[in-house]
Amino acid sequence: MNRAPRLTRRHFLLLGWFSRRRILTAAGIRFELLRNGAPLRKFVLIHGDESTARRVLLARMRDRRPGWAYLVTHEERLVRLGALRFDPNRIFSREGAERNLRELNPAASEADFELALAFLDREREKLVRALLPERGGVLIALHNNREGYSIHTEIPISDRVALNEPQRPHDFYLCTEPGDFDRLSRSPFNVVLQHRPPPPDDGSLSRLAARRNVRYVNIETLLGEEDKQRRMLAWLEDHL
Ligand SMILES: [Zn+2]
Repeated sequence: MNRAPRLTRRHFLLLGWFSRRRILTAAGIRFELLRNGAPLRKFVLIHGDESTARRVLLARMRDRRPGWAYLVTHEERLVRLGALRFDPNRIFSREGAERNLRELNPAASEADFELALAFLDREREKLVRALLPERGGVLIALHNNREGYSIHTEIPISDRVALNEPQRPHDFYLCTEPGDFDRLSRSPFNVVLQHRPPPPDDGSLSRLAARRNVRYVNIETLLGEEDKQRRMLAWLEDHL
């Protein structure tokens, strides 16, 4: 069910730094796990086409800063499951997974949907267990966006908002715990808190983290803004 990962030469060169590499496959999604020390701080790149976030996270791990990082090895955004495709950041609830599968595969049969949903139901917890940090730890996701999505998409479903950089709506932190929001809102960057977001559940990892009271922060920037994303990650690591 998995496509063979197509990794660039540069990617291999970067990965060559790591001696303690592992592969995790869950819910049809293949991740490379890079480990430095204890997993109190965990990182995830879940969209394979967000190459800026991938570079920022690889550089951070190459610097031997402590924590575990899961980097999806697919280069495409969507993951293939038999004849179907899904967004890997929409499967953290059955409700979200079903909506996403139907949206992306309008020609598929009911039998196909049932098989795919049953598979994701069996696999979901394995993925969640791997990604969630130890108690008190924090899960940090890195994403990149393009035109059409910004902090203004998230504001209507957020509990609190700090618009510290209104001229840069594509770059923001999205966190799930009020204490983290308090600290991040003192940064020079935009922040939203989604502690108890309203339904519907879109199946994203932030929703799952909020539901389970896990500290989660997404660092979202416009694709290509590598220096900006690196500075946002550094600020977060210095202050959380
Ligand atoms: Zn993303």
